Amino acid sequence: MGEAIMKGSVEVGVTDSLSSSLLSCAALAPCRRALVLGGSTEARMLTACIAADPRLEGVISLAGRTSAPQAYDLPTRVGGFGGIEGLTRYLLDERITHVVDATHPFAARISANARAACAAAGVPLLVLTRPPWAPAQGDRWMEVADNAAAARALGVAPRRVFLAIGRQGVSDFRVAPQHDYLLRVIEPPNVDDLPPSCEVIFGRGPFALEDEVALIRDRRIEIVVTKNSGGALAYAKIEAARTLGLSVVMIARPASGDAATTHDIDAAMAFLAS
Ligand code: NAP
Repeated sequence: MGEAIMKGSVEVGVTDSLSSSLLSCAALAPCRRALVLGGSTEARMLTACIAADPRLEGVISLAGRTSAPQAYDLPTRVGGFGGIEGLTRYLLDERITHVVDATHPFAARISANARAACAAAGVPLLVLTRPPWAPAQGDRWMEVADNAAAARALGVAPRRVFLAIGRQGVSDFRVAPQHDYLLRVIEPPNVDDLPPSCEVIFGRGPFALEDEVALIRDRRIEIVVTKNSGGALAYAKIEAARTLGLSVVMIARPASGDAATTHDIDAAMAFLAS
Protein backbone atom coordinates (compact mmCIF):
# COMPACT_ATOMS: atom_id res chain seq x y z
CA MET A 1 0.00 0.00 0.00
CA GLY A 2 2.87 2.36 0.87
CA GLU A 3 4.34 1.81 -2.58
CA ALA A 4 1.05 2.64 -4.32
CA ILE A 5 0.72 5.89 -2.35
CA MET A 6 4.28 6.98 -3.05
CA LYS A 7 4.17 6.20 -6.74
CA GLY A 8 0.69 7.69 -7.06
CA SER A 9 1.66 10.99 -5.47
CA VAL A 10 4.71 11.31 -7.71
CA GLU A 11 2.75 10.56 -10.85
CA VAL A 12 -0.18 12.94 -10.26
CA GLY A 13 1.96 15.74 -8.83
CA VAL A 14 -0.07 16.33 -5.67
CA THR A 15 1.52 19.24 -3.77
CA ASP A 16 0.17 19.03 -0.23
CA SER A 17 2.50 18.44 2.72
CA LEU A 18 1.87 14.67 2.77
CA SER A 19 2.92 14.26 -0.84
CA SER A 20 6.02 16.44 -0.35
CA SER A 21 7.16 14.32 2.56
CA LEU A 22 6.53 11.19 0.52
CA LEU A 23 8.45 12.69 -2.39
CA SER A 24 11.43 13.50 -0.19
CA CYS A 25 11.27 10.00 1.27
CA ALA A 26 11.22 8.38 -2.16
CA ALA A 27 13.54 10.70 -4.06
CA LEU A 28 15.95 12.13 -1.49
CA ALA A 29 16.19 10.00 1.62
CA PRO A 30 15.18 6.36 1.28
CA CYS A 31 13.18 5.30 4.31
CA ARG A 32 14.70 1.84 4.65
CA ARG A 33 18.37 1.04 4.83
CA ALA A 34 19.00 -2.64 4.28
CA LEU A 35 22.05 -4.76 4.94
CA VAL A 36 22.07 -7.89 2.80
CA LEU A 37 24.51 -10.58 3.91
CA GLY A 38 25.44 -12.20 0.63
CA GLY A 39 27.38 -14.89 -1.09
CA SER A 40 24.43 -16.63 -2.76
CA THR A 41 22.24 -16.46 -5.86
CA GLU A 42 19.34 -15.32 -3.69
CA ALA A 43 21.39 -12.35 -2.46
CA ARG A 44 22.10 -11.30 -6.04
CA MET A 45 18.41 -11.49 -6.97
CA LEU A 46 17.38 -9.52 -3.88
CA THR A 47 19.94 -6.76 -4.41
CA ALA A 48 18.64 -6.25 -7.95
CA CYS A 49 15.12 -5.74 -6.54
CA ILE A 50 16.35 -3.35 -3.83
CA ALA A 51 18.31 -1.30 -6.36
CA ALA A 52 15.14 -0.90 -8.45
CA ASP A 53 12.98 0.26 -5.50
CA PRO A 54 13.21 4.00 -4.68
CA ARG A 55 11.96 3.40 -1.13
CA LEU A 56 15.03 1.39 -0.29
CA GLU A 57 18.73 1.81 -0.11
CA GLY A 58 21.10 -0.89 0.87
CA VAL A 59 24.50 -2.42 1.01
CA ILE A 60 25.57 -5.95 0.20
CA SER A 61 28.21 -7.60 2.37
CA LEU A 62 30.52 -10.35 1.11
CA ALA A 63 32.97 -12.41 3.14
CA GLY A 64 35.68 -11.98 0.50
CA ARG A 65 36.30 -15.68 -0.08
CA THR A 66 36.35 -15.45 -3.90
CA SER A 67 39.00 -13.41 -5.68
CA ALA A 68 36.65 -12.31 -8.49
CA PRO A 69 33.16 -12.07 -7.00
CA GLN A 70 30.25 -11.54 -9.38
CA ALA A 71 28.94 -7.97 -9.58
CA TYR A 72 26.02 -6.79 -7.46
CA ASP A 73 23.59 -3.91 -8.06
CA LEU A 74 24.20 -2.33 -4.64
CA PRO A 75 27.23 -0.77 -2.97
CA THR A 76 29.40 -3.68 -1.83
CA ARG A 77 31.46 -4.08 1.32
CA VAL A 78 33.89 -6.99 1.64
CA GLY A 79 35.32 -8.78 4.68
CA GLY A 80 34.27 -9.85 8.16
CA PHE A 81 32.71 -7.41 10.63
CA GLY A 82 34.66 -8.65 13.63
CA GLY A 83 32.20 -11.06 15.20
CA ILE A 84 28.91 -10.22 16.90
CA GLU A 85 30.29 -7.07 18.46
CA GLY A 86 31.62 -5.73 15.16
CA LEU A 87 28.39 -6.47 13.32
CA THR A 88 26.31 -4.85 16.07
CA ARG A 89 28.46 -1.71 15.83
CA TYR A 90 28.15 -1.70 12.04
CA LEU A 91 24.33 -1.90 12.23
CA LEU A 92 24.19 1.05 14.60
CA ASP A 93 26.86 3.19 12.90
CA GLU A 94 25.33 2.70 9.45
CA ARG A 95 21.76 3.21 10.72
CA ILE A 96 20.68 -0.11 9.22
CA THR A 97 16.91 -0.59 9.57
CA HIS A 98 16.60 -4.16 8.21
CA VAL A 99 18.94 -7.12 7.75
CA VAL A 100 18.42 -9.95 5.27
CA ASP A 101 20.68 -12.93 5.84
CA ALA A 102 21.00 -14.31 2.30
CA THR A 103 24.21 -16.22 2.96
CA HIS A 104 24.72 -19.79 1.81
CA PRO A 105 22.77 -22.28 3.99
CA PHE A 106 26.07 -23.78 5.22
CA ALA A 107 27.53 -20.43 6.37
CA ALA A 108 26.48 -21.08 9.97
CA ARG A 109 28.72 -18.68 11.86
CA ILE A 110 27.76 -15.46 10.09
CA SER A 111 24.08 -16.45 10.39
CA ALA A 112 24.45 -16.98 14.15
CA ASN A 113 26.28 -13.66 14.41
CA ALA A 114 23.49 -11.93 12.49
CA ARG A 115 20.87 -13.30 14.89
CA ALA A 116 22.81 -12.09 17.93
CA ALA A 117 23.78 -8.70 16.48
CA CYS A 118 20.27 -7.92 15.24
CA ALA A 119 18.87 -8.78 18.66
CA ALA A 120 21.47 -6.55 20.35
CA ALA A 121 20.90 -3.62 17.97
CA GLY A 122 17.11 -4.01 17.82
CA VAL A 123 17.14 -4.45 14.04
CA PRO A 124 14.67 -6.88 12.39
CA LEU A 125 16.21 -9.87 10.63
CA LEU A 126 14.91 -12.13 7.87
CA VAL A 127 16.70 -15.21 6.54
CA LEU A 128 16.34 -15.64 2.78
CA THR A 129 17.40 -19.10 1.70
CA ARG A 130 16.65 -21.68 -0.94
CA PRO A 131 14.65 -24.77 -0.03
CA PRO A 132 16.74 -27.89 0.55
CA TRP A 133 16.70 -30.70 -2.00
CA ALA A 134 14.47 -33.69 -1.25
CA PRO A 135 15.08 -37.19 -2.62
CA ALA A 136 13.17 -38.03 -5.80
CA GLN A 137 12.22 -41.45 -7.15
CA GLY A 138 15.37 -43.33 -8.10
CA ASP A 139 17.65 -41.38 -5.78
CA ARG A 140 19.95 -43.41 -3.52
CA TRP A 141 20.86 -41.00 -0.73
CA MET A 142 22.72 -41.58 2.49
CA GLU A 143 21.76 -38.56 4.59
CA VAL A 144 24.40 -37.60 7.15
CA ALA A 145 24.76 -34.84 9.71
CA ASP A 146 28.15 -33.41 8.80
CA ASN A 147 31.44 -33.89 6.93
CA ALA A 148 32.85 -36.30 9.51
CA ALA A 149 29.81 -38.55 9.10
CA ALA A 150 30.10 -38.24 5.31
CA ALA A 151 33.72 -39.44 5.44
CA ARG A 152 32.63 -42.45 7.53
CA ALA A 153 29.72 -43.19 5.17
CA LEU A 154 32.18 -43.74 2.30
CA GLY A 155 33.16 -46.99 4.01
CA VAL A 156 36.41 -48.85 4.47
CA ALA A 157 36.98 -50.14 0.92
CA PRO A 158 38.67 -47.67 -1.47
CA ARG A 159 36.25 -45.88 -3.81
CA ARG A 160 36.36 -43.19 -6.46
CA VAL A 161 34.52 -40.25 -4.88
CA PHE A 162 33.19 -37.06 -6.47
CA LEU A 163 33.60 -34.55 -3.62
CA ALA A 164 31.22 -31.79 -4.66
CA ILE A 165 31.38 -29.76 -1.44
CA GLY A 166 33.63 -26.88 -2.45
CA ARG A 167 37.00 -26.31 -0.83
CA GLN A 168 35.75 -25.55 2.69
CA GLY A 169 35.73 -28.65 4.85
CA VAL A 170 37.75 -30.80 2.44
CA SER A 171 40.31 -31.47 5.20
CA ASP A 172 37.57 -33.46 7.00
CA PHE A 173 38.10 -36.18 4.37
CA ARG A 174 41.77 -36.67 5.22
CA VAL A 175 40.60 -39.24 7.81
CA ALA A 176 39.59 -41.45 4.87
CA PRO A 177 42.79 -41.48 2.77
CA GLN A 178 42.01 -44.83 1.12
CA HIS A 179 39.67 -43.17 -1.43
CA ASP A 180 40.51 -41.43 -4.70
CA TYR A 181 38.78 -38.03 -4.63
CA LEU A 182 37.71 -35.69 -7.41
CA LEU A 183 37.22 -32.27 -5.80
CA ARG A 184 35.47 -29.47 -7.71
CA VAL A 185 36.12 -25.90 -6.52
CA ILE A 186 35.79 -22.29 -7.63
CA GLU A 187 38.93 -21.07 -5.88
CA PRO A 188 42.17 -23.05 -5.39
CA PRO A 189 42.13 -25.05 -2.14
CA ASN A 190 44.91 -25.10 0.42
CA VAL A 191 47.02 -28.12 -0.63
CA ASP A 192 47.57 -29.07 3.02
CA ASP A 193 43.81 -29.59 3.35
CA LEU A 194 43.60 -32.21 0.61
CA PRO A 195 43.42 -35.98 1.14
CA PRO A 196 46.49 -37.73 -0.35
CA SER A 197 44.81 -38.91 -3.56
CA CYS A 198 42.80 -35.94 -4.76
CA GLU A 199 42.38 -34.46 -8.23
CA VAL A 200 41.19 -30.84 -8.20
CA ILE A 201 39.07 -29.42 -11.00
CA PHE A 202 37.68 -25.90 -11.30
CA GLY A 203 34.10 -24.97 -12.14
CA ARG A 204 31.30 -22.59 -11.18
CA GLY A 205 27.64 -23.52 -11.70
CA PRO A 206 25.23 -23.77 -13.33
CA PHE A 207 26.24 -27.22 -14.53
CA ALA A 208 24.37 -29.11 -17.26
CA LEU A 209 23.13 -32.65 -16.68
CA GLU A 210 24.94 -34.07 -19.71
CA ASP A 211 28.23 -32.52 -18.56
CA GLU A 212 27.82 -33.94 -15.06
CA VAL A 213 27.02 -37.40 -16.45
CA ALA A 214 30.08 -37.18 -18.72
CA LEU A 215 32.33 -36.08 -15.84
CA ILE A 216 31.15 -38.87 -13.56
CA ARG A 217 31.57 -41.47 -16.34
CA ASP A 218 34.98 -40.20 -17.51
CA ARG A 219 36.41 -40.23 -13.98
CA ARG A 220 34.77 -43.61 -13.18
CA ILE A 221 33.16 -42.08 -10.08
CA GLU A 222 31.47 -44.60 -7.77
CA ILE A 223 29.85 -42.27 -5.20
CA VAL A 224 29.02 -38.56 -4.91
CA VAL A 225 29.32 -36.42 -1.76
CA THR A 226 27.46 -33.12 -1.60
CA LYS A 227 26.01 -30.61 0.85
CA ASN A 228 22.25 -30.13 0.75
CA SER A 229 22.63 -26.62 -0.60
CA GLY A 230 19.37 -26.68 -2.57
CA GLY A 231 18.63 -24.60 -5.65
CA ALA A 232 18.85 -25.25 -9.37
CA LEU A 233 22.45 -24.22 -10.13
CA ALA A 234 24.06 -27.25 -8.53
CA TYR A 235 21.26 -29.81 -8.89
CA ALA A 236 22.55 -31.52 -12.05
CA LYS A 237 25.05 -33.66 -10.11
CA ILE A 238 22.13 -35.15 -8.14
CA GLU A 239 20.27 -35.90 -11.37
CA ALA A 240 23.45 -37.33 -12.89
CA ALA A 241 23.94 -39.68 -9.93
CA ARG A 242 20.30 -40.79 -10.28
CA THR A 243 20.73 -41.35 -14.02
CA LEU A 244 23.81 -43.51 -13.44
CA GLY A 245 22.40 -45.34 -10.40
CA LEU A 246 25.08 -43.99 -8.03
CA SER A 247 24.72 -43.36 -4.31
CA VAL A 248 24.89 -39.82 -2.96
CA VAL A 249 26.14 -38.95 0.51
CA MET A 250 23.96 -35.93 1.31
CA ILE A 251 25.24 -33.68 4.10
CA ALA A 252 22.40 -32.04 6.03
CA ARG A 253 22.28 -28.30 6.66
CA PRO A 254 23.54 -26.97 9.96
CA ALA A 255 20.92 -25.82 12.47
CA SER A 256 19.57 -22.45 11.43
CA GLY A 257 18.26 -21.02 14.72
CA ASP A 258 14.87 -19.43 15.16
CA ALA A 259 15.05 -16.38 12.86
CA ALA A 260 12.10 -15.70 10.55
CA THR A 261 12.85 -17.44 7.26
CA THR A 262 11.57 -17.23 3.69
CA HIS A 263 12.43 -18.84 0.35
CA ASP A 264 10.69 -16.06 -1.55
CA ILE A 265 12.22 -12.82 -2.92
CA ASP A 266 8.83 -11.05 -2.88
CA ALA A 267 8.41 -11.87 0.81
CA ALA A 268 11.89 -10.47 1.48
CA MET A 269 10.92 -7.26 -0.35
CA ALA A 270 7.72 -7.01 1.70
CA PHE A 271 9.80 -7.39 4.87
CA LEU A 272 12.09 -4.56 3.75
CA ALA A 273 9.12 -2.32 3.06
CA SER A 274 7.58 -3.02 6.47
P1 NAP B 1 30.88 -18.62 8.07
O1 NAP B 1 31.74 -19.75 8.51
O2 NAP B 1 29.48 -18.59 8.49
O3 NAP B 1 31.53 -17.23 8.51
C1 NAP B 1 32.87 -17.10 8.95
C2 NAP B 1 33.15 -15.63 9.09
O4 NAP B 1 33.27 -15.02 7.81
C3 NAP B 1 32.06 -14.86 9.81
O5 NAP B 1 32.17 -14.97 11.20
C4 NAP B 1 32.30 -13.45 9.28
O6 NAP B 1 33.42 -12.84 9.91
C5 NAP B 1 32.72 -13.71 7.85
N1 NAP B 1 31.59 -13.66 6.92
C6 NAP B 1 30.87 -14.69 6.40
N2 NAP B 1 29.96 -14.27 5.54
C7 NAP B 1 30.07 -12.93 5.50
C8 NAP B 1 29.41 -11.92 4.78
N3 NAP B 1 28.42 -12.20 3.90
N4 NAP B 1 29.79 -10.63 4.99
C9 NAP B 1 30.80 -10.33 5.86
N5 NAP B 1 31.47 -11.26 6.56
C10 NAP B 1 31.11 -12.54 6.38
O7 NAP B 1 30.92 -18.49 6.48
P2 NAP B 1 31.60 -19.43 5.38
O8 NAP B 1 30.95 -20.76 5.41
O9 NAP B 1 33.08 -19.30 5.53
O10 NAP B 1 31.11 -18.69 4.07
C11 NAP B 1 31.69 -17.45 3.70
C12 NAP B 1 30.85 -16.84 2.61
O11 NAP B 1 30.83 -17.70 1.48
C13 NAP B 1 29.41 -16.59 3.06
O12 NAP B 1 29.08 -15.26 2.79
C14 NAP B 1 28.59 -17.57 2.26
O13 NAP B 1 27.37 -17.02 1.82
C15 NAP B 1 29.50 -17.93 1.08
N6 NAP B 1 29.39 -19.34 0.69
C16 NAP B 1 29.58 -20.31 1.64
C17 NAP B 1 29.44 -21.64 1.25
C18 NAP B 1 29.60 -22.75 2.25
O14 NAP B 1 29.43 -23.93 1.86
N7 NAP B 1 29.89 -22.47 3.51
C19 NAP B 1 29.14 -21.95 -0.08
C20 NAP B 1 28.98 -20.93 -1.01
C21 NAP B 1 29.11 -19.62 -0.61
P3 NAP B 1 33.25 -11.88 11.18
O15 NAP B 1 32.91 -12.74 12.32
O16 NAP B 1 34.58 -11.20 11.27
O17 NAP B 1 32.15 -10.92 10.83
